[in-house]
Amino acid sequence: MTPVPGTKWLLSIYARVVASRLDETKARITSIFGSILKMDSTKKVIKKLAGAAAGTAAWVTNVGNEHGQILISVLTAAEGAGLHPMATGLMRRYRDASVSPPLVLYVDRDCCSHGGPCKVSLLFNQWDQLVVRLDVWHLMRRFAAGVTTESHPLYSLFMARLSFCIFEWDQGDVARLRQAKAGEAGNDPRGSGYGKIPLKELARHCRRRTRGAEETGRLIDEMLEAFGDATDTMGIPLLGRAKIQEIWKTQRRHLHCIQDPPGVHLYMQTGQLVKGGITLPVFRCGRGSTSLESFHLHLDRFIPGKGAQKPVLCDLCCAREWVALHFYLCVSLSLSLTHRVFQALQPARPTFRPICWKAWHGGTRTVRQKQWRKETVISSATVANSSTPSTS
Ligand SMILES: [Zn+2]
Repeated sequence: MTPVPGTKWLLSIYARVVASRLDETKARITSIFGSILKMDSTKKVIKKLAGAAAGTAAWVTNVGNEHGQILISVLTAAEGAGLHPMATGLMRRYRDASVSPPLVLYVDRDCCSHGGPCKVSLLFNQWDQLVVRLDVWHLMRRFAAGVTTESHPLYSLFMARLSFCIFEWDQGDVARLRQAKAGEAGNDPRGSGYGKIPLKELARHCRRRTRGAEETGRLIDEMLEAFGDATDTMGIPLLGRAKIQEIWKTQRRHLHCIQDPPGVHLYMQTGQLVKGGITLPVFRCGRGSTSLESFHLHLDRFIPGKGAQKPVLCDLCCAREWVALHFYLCVSLSLSLTHRVFQALQPARPTFRPICWKAWHGGTRTVRQKQWRKETVISSATVANSSTPSTS
């Protein structure tokens, strides 16, 4: 009986296959550009280096673009100044390809300074027009640190209200969606409040914009006052009053660097759907770094091993382990590009993807396969009916 190959043998064969295509893979990865970039680091993937290579790196940092593609992925010992070679390489890539520098960069730290350019602007010093923005989700997470517990019944309401203080929906898009929903249900559009429309559906068909620093500051002041003494039925307060005020005092200075940069189109239309006889655009939002958070989750699942508990890569020596990890990073980046091309070719088919990509989208693609089929059938039928000549 032929013995079943072990992990070492399988990993070795996998590495050979990847190595045979490495030039092509690298060429694909380094041909990616974008005008709205996002940068984020994670420690999750580094835990895979659990054998002889354990502790030889501290962070995996990625830079992505508005299409959800990854431009670069590096392993470093530190954030901040440790990213200097990566930034230099990225700027050189744009310059060598004669591509216009990006307009916006979303980050989770080092976004503003008390005087002069911020640390991230200094890092990308050749892009003098680059606007650095703080990712709103990271700002909201800082407020969440002032909550007594995230399992508090009022926690989700607090975070929803915080989001409302920062963003407002485009009223034209919301009115069109309300009309479509009313048409689907056969109701009067005036009777269907948009509070009843699921958030994911709103995000798919409607655009949002930031309210402006002054308005957001005023609304957060009001919100913290309103939630200040809020408790659950057991009398447990939602907020630690002193703590949340301290957080607000510190974070207030970021209100300017979460605003949408003027003149930059953050939304792109990736398709359209027909609902209730109304054609609705499907948008993809380029704001923030949520797509990178999703990519980090994907990397964590894609690379085998669970850190010190059950490492797979640590069967190898240090150098081989590093090579294997780099190969996994290359392949996952290359697959991400393939996946995005596939989506671009079929923009109205949001959820047809392998199950391991489930966490990839960061909540931006939410139509279930069955629902998509139903909508497509309706859409096709509508087109067929409208194009059929009248016989009367
Ligand atoms: Zn800032």
